[in-house]
Amino acid sequence: MSGIDRRTLLGAAVSVGASVGFASGVKAQMAPGQTRADVSSFMAEMQSIVGEEWAFWSEQALVPYDKSYIPDPSGLLHPVGAVAPRTVEEVQEIVRAANRHHQPLWPISTGKNMGYGSAVPATPGQVVLDLKRMNRILEVDVDLGTCLIEPGVTYQQLKTYLEDNNIPLWIDVPTVGPIASPVGNTLERGVGYTPYGEHFMFQCGMEVILPDGRLMRTGMGSIEGSTAWQAFKWGYGPYVDGLFTQSNFGVVTKMGLWLMPQPPAYKPFMIRHANMDDVPKIIEAMRPLRVSSLIANCNLMMSASYQLSMFNRRNSVVADGMPLDDESVKRAARANGLGMWNTYFALYGTEEVVAAIEPIVRGALTASGGEVLTEHEMGDNPWFHHHATLMKGGLNLDEIGMVRWRGNGGGLAWFAPVAAAKGAEAERQTRLAREILDKYGFDYTAAYAIGWRDLHHIIALLFDKSDAEEEARADACYREMVTRFGQQGWASYRTGVNTMDLVSQQYGQVNRDFNATIKQALDPNHILAPGKSGIA
Ligand SMILES: Cc1cc2nc3c(=O)[nH]c(=O)nc-3n(C[C@H](O)[C@H](O)[C@H](O)COP(=O)(O)OP(=O)(O)OC[C@H]3O[C@@H](n4cnc5c(N)ncnc54)[C@H](O)[C@@H]3O)c2cc1C
Repeated sequence: MSGIDRRTLLGAAVSVGASVGFASGVKAQMAPGQTRADVSSFMAEMQSIVGEEWAFWSEQALVPYDKSYIPDPSGLLHPVGAVAPRTVEEVQEIVRAANRHHQPLWPISTGKNMGYGSAVPATPGQVVLDLKRMNRILEVDVDLGTCLIEPGVTYQQLKTYLEDNNIPLWIDVPTVGPIASPVGNTLERGVGYTPYGEHFMFQCGMEVILPDGRLMRTGMGSIEGSTAWQAFKWGYGPYVDGLFTQSNFGVVTKMGLWLMPQPPAYKPFMIRHANMDDVPKIIEAMRPLRVSSLIANCNLMMSASYQLSMFNRRNSVVADGMPLDDESVKRAARANGLGMWNTYFALYGTEEVVAAIEPIVRGALTASGGEVLTEHEMGDNPWFHHHATLMKGGLNLDEIGMVRWRGNGGGLAWFAPVAAAKGAEAERQTRLAREILDKYGFDYTAAYAIGWRDLHHIIALLFDKSDAEEEARADACYREMVTRFGQQGWASYRTGVNTMDLVSQQYGQVNRDFNATIKQALDPNHILAPGKSGIA
C-alpha cells in the first residue's frame, strides 16, 4: 500500500538528471499549435506541481513510455513528456495547467495496455499523465465483497493484500495481471476468466477529475454519508460511468470493484477438439451452458497455434519461411497434450453444486466431439496449469512469451471483432481471418471467447517489429482485417492507439457526433487524450 520508488516507475536505466530538457535528436512531434518551448514551459510547471523528479521530457527518460508492440510504420506516435502525480489535488492542478498551456495529456494507470499501444498516446505531442504513484487500496469491505482503489494499484498488489489479510475474496485478472491495473483494465472494458470476468459489469462507483479540474463522484459517491458507493451502481438520473470508459472525458482517480467470494469448490476443465473446423460445434454446445450460467465463467477456446506461441519459437514448429500448416501444428500440439482447439472453463460452488452440474456439462461437450479433461488427466501440463490459475484469479505472465514467436522484435497487435455467440459466425470469421493473414504472410494465432451471449474473436497478429518491412506489412494486414470484418458487420470491441479512428468510423457518424458533442462540452480545449477511441 505504500508508494513505489522511481526505479520501479521508470526502470532502473533512467537517471534523475536526464529529466531537465529535450535531448538532442528527440523524435517526437509536438501537438498542433505547440512548440518545443511551449512543452518545456509546461513541463517546468509540472515540476513545480509534482516535484522535479516526477516530471520528465528528455528522450532517454521517455523510453519506458515510448515502447509498444503495435505496428506504427509512420513513426509518429510518441509522447513528448510524462508527469507522475501522487495526489488527486495534483491531478487537478495538472489538468488546469494543461488547459492554460493547451497541452494535451494522455492518462494511464499502469500503462501496460500491451498489444493496444501500452502507454503510447493516440496522437503526437501528448504528455503522459502517469498515475502509477497513486497506488493505495483505500478500502476492502469483506462482508459486501467490494473494494475502492486508486489507478496505480496492480492486480498483484490487490491479491497480495487480500492474502496477507486472510480475506476470502478473489480478484479477477486479465492474462497479464501481475503488472497491470484493475482501473486501467476496467476503463478499457477488459476481461478476465472467473465469473467476474466482464470487468466493467463488476465496477461500482468512480471518482473522476473532469477536464476543467472539477472532481465528480458517480453513483452514490456524491451523497454525503452514503454507505452504498461501492454497493449500488446506478445512483440517480442518467448512468454515466460508461462515459468514462474507452473515452477521454475525465481522469479516473478512484474506482470501486466487486470481488468474488472464494467458493468452497473449484474445478477447472479443458475440452480437447482434434480439428481446426470444430469451433462451430464447440460454440453451439457451450452457448446454452453459458447463457443459463450453468458454466459461470467466460469460456476461452484456444487454437493450438496460439497456445504453442506462448512457450515456443515459430521455427520449432515449421522451418523459417514456410507457412504454418495445420499438419505441423497438429503434430506439435499432440506432442504437448493439446488438440487443435482447447476450451477452458471451470465449475464453482459447493462440492454438491459442482457434482450436480458436471454430468450435464460433460454430456453436452462430449456430444460436440470433445474429450473432457480435468486435472486428473492433464496433471501439470503448462497450458492447463496456466488456465486453471487464471480461472481462479491467479497471476502469471506465461502469455507474454508470444511476442517472441517470430523473432526478438516483439510485435503484437490484438484484433478483437465481436459477433453473436453462434457457431456459423465463427466458421465465417475463421475463414476470413485466415484468408487475410495468409495473404500478408502471417499466422492464424487466435482464440474465441464466449463472454455471455457475445463471441469475441481474439486474433494475435504476431510479427517482428525489428523488421521495418514486416512492421509495415503487419500494419496493412491489420487495417484490412478491420475493414473487411467491418463490412461483414463485425467491428472490434477495442483497438490499438494506431487504429482508433478507423474503428470508430465503423460505428457510424451519429455515434461520432454524439461523442464529439460531449467532448466539446466537457473539454473545449481538447486537452484530455485527443484521439482516444476516435474522439478528438
Ligand atoms: C499476452 C497478453 C495477454 C493479454 N491478456 C489480456 C486479457 O486477458 N484481458 C484483457 O483485458 N487484456 C489483456 N491484455 C491487454 C492489456 O495488457 C491489459 O488489458 C492491461 O490490463 C491494460 O493495461 P493497464 O491495466 O496497465 O491499463 P493502462 O494502460 O493504464 O490503461 C489503458 C487505457 O485506459 C485509459 N486510462 C487508463 N487509466 C485511466 C485513468 N485513470 N483515467 C482515464 N483514462 C485512463 C487510457 O486510455 C489508457 O491508455 C493482454 C496483453 C498481452 C500482451
